[in-house]
Amino acid sequence: MDIQTLVTNIYHEVKPLAAKGEVAKYIPALASISPNNMAISLHYIDGKHFSIGDYNTPFSIQSIVKVLSFTLAHKALGNDIWKRIGKEPSGNAFNSLVQLEHENGIPRNPFINAGAIVLSDIILSHYKNPEQELLNFAKKTANETSISYNEEVARSEKETGYRNSALAYFMKSCKNIINPVEDVLDLYFLTCSLEMSTYCLAKSFLYLSNHGIVPSTNEQILTISQAKRTNALMLTSGLYNESGEFAYRVGIPAKSGVGGGIVAIIPKQLSICVWSPPLNEFGNSYAGICALEKFTTETGVSVF
Ligand code: GLN
Repeated sequence: MDIQTLVTNIYHEVKPLAAKGEVAKYIPALASISPNNMAISLHYIDGKHFSIGDYNTPFSIQSIVKVLSFTLAHKALGNDIWKRIGKEPSGNAFNSLVQLEHENGIPRNPFINAGAIVLSDIILSHYKNPEQELLNFAKKTANETSISYNEEVARSEKETGYRNSALAYFMKSCKNIINPVEDVLDLYFLTCSLEMSTYCLAKSFLYLSNHGIVPSTNEQILTISQAKRTNALMLTSGLYNESGEFAYRVGIPAKSGVGGGIVAIIPKQLSICVWSPPLNEFGNSYAGICALEKFTTETGVSVF
């Protein structure tokens, strides 16, 4: 079976499963998204691509941006980043507070909220115009210009971000936040509001399947080693406290967000992005996981 037929079949098979999940409700902009949106985009490093469904509709990428923030912060600090953030799966919800006190304000990994708040602090310290830097970086990795923040989402995130504020202030008390907490949170909330389509998002993650190089421009974003290690972190921590289950069922590095997107990569081959807003109990797209599970099962691709 060719890949287009396979992905088309998967799209139709998993679309009804979205009814088993629930759209994020904590801010109006997410609560009002139609649960019927669904898209799958596939990009190969040789330039071939295939998409189906609402693949041109920009959606709130939310925590998926943590991978882009991590890339910028990792480039800025190198291995010193590991003095401020760990590399272990958290086993707790993405916005959990419990572990942080036991571990003296050092977040378990860059892909939970506490970790990404530290990433925002690092980006603020190292880049002159951090907001623009991250936006330009997303555009550069995707080699696309139609990517923007959603100011309304950023505002609502801020208005309801009590747990994120608690995480940030606690880390400040442990001296793991250098800049003023309000500035760090503003950047964190803004980055969560980034909107991209599955088409752009899958394209943007190709540098991670291509040893750190954007295939369409040949620009080296990360060293081979940094790219491989980012993928290792996505495999172990990309789906919060469902990362083990996801590695077991799907078996490839991926990152999810509460907007219902999941983007995954297969080294030296491709990246794939699925969007279906209804989430499971861990805050990951219900149908998105099913689609990726079918994709790796039916194509036989794996990193193992
Ligand atoms: N904006 C969300 C938050 O900070 C992002 C969480 C997510 O996508 N898991 O809580």
